[in-house]
Amino acid sequence: MNLSSLKDFLEKEKLPQFRYRQIVKNYYSGRYLTFDQMTDLSKDLRKTLSKQFSLLSVSESKIISDKNTQKALLKLNDGQKIESVLMDYDNWLTVCLSSQVGCPLACTFCATGKMGFIRNLTSEEIVDQILYWQQKVYPQKISRIVFMGMGEPFLNWDNLLEAIKIINSKDTLNIGARKISISTAGLANKIIDFADLKNQINLAISLHSLDQNFRQSIMPVAKQFNLTELKKAAYYYVKKTKRQLFFEYALMSENTTLADAKKLADFIKSHHLFFLNLIPLNPIKRGLTPANKNQQQQFIKEIDRLKVSYSLRRSFGKNFAAACGQLTTK
Ligand code: SAH
Repeated sequence: MNLSSLKDFLEKEKLPQFRYRQIVKNYYSGRYLTFDQMTDLSKDLRKTLSKQFSLLSVSESKIISDKNTQKALLKLNDGQKIESVLMDYDNWLTVCLSSQVGCPLACTFCATGKMGFIRNLTSEEIVDQILYWQQKVYPQKISRIVFMGMGEPFLNWDNLLEAIKIINSKDTLNIGARKISISTAGLANKIIDFADLKNQINLAISLHSLDQNFRQSIMPVAKQFNLTELKKAAYYYVKKTKRQLFFEYALMSENTTLADAKKLADFIKSHHLFFLNLIPLNPIKRGLTPANKNQQQQFIKEIDRLKVSYSLRRSFGKNFAAACGQLTTK
């Protein structure tokens, strides 16, 4: 909801200040789908508000689900569409947020990258994805937020930070910084800026290869920020924040030789705060080839042998294209 127009409206109607605070509190409670359900407001006010405002800036246009994952296609006020995902990790509800409509980075293995870039999301559109899911699961609470949906969060810097303030603040969504994770394709300059903010938010970097030529062939942004610069930014981050830094590595047939495992292990082990997230590559149209069972096993065995601290990410929603890198509205 656009809170500044709400404020203007209430002032114009000469309504007392506390009404504003009450409506805002109701809004962030994630309890209501419509103003009409806010029975602590007068009937007349509810009616007027319904006419003048939409409670959320996103509306459901389609939803599909399996046991642990729900994916929603959400329509924005200008008719653009984004996807947003809710995952249930043994009753820990995690929302995967989009930060842009499409994405300009064009990673060759990512479905969003194939759509091109349409526009940045506003902070309201980012936050309202959470409220959309919160309403569905109420009274259960959303416990974790990951910026791993459509778009590159660091290219929508101001709105990202504004949204995080709202997600994090006690008066609004009150989700702790340690429960929020941001994933970046590796914009070294922004990694440094982010480290300087010195907050408790988790950061993940999409690494996928330690070979500059291969990496830039699948992630064009690596031409702008090469591995040397990216590593420098990563060391800066851990030095400044003393927080763990996560590296995502999707298992493809092209990046899973034993030599790749060795290079990866050397890098991850070069700092005790570096941590590796291995992800099975999810197939997309015109994308790259996932590592086969054998390649995966060999690679993971080598990573184990080299005593790297890592986790193998479970893939959610793969059956209906709701997994990492499969989000597209085209
Ligand atoms: N732009 C950001 C966040 C969005 S993607 C980034 O690049 O990090 C979230 C994660 O999914 C990233 O680690 C990305 O590299 C990964 N990803 C993209 N396509 C994928 C695919 N087809 N299979 C598995 N992971 C993928």
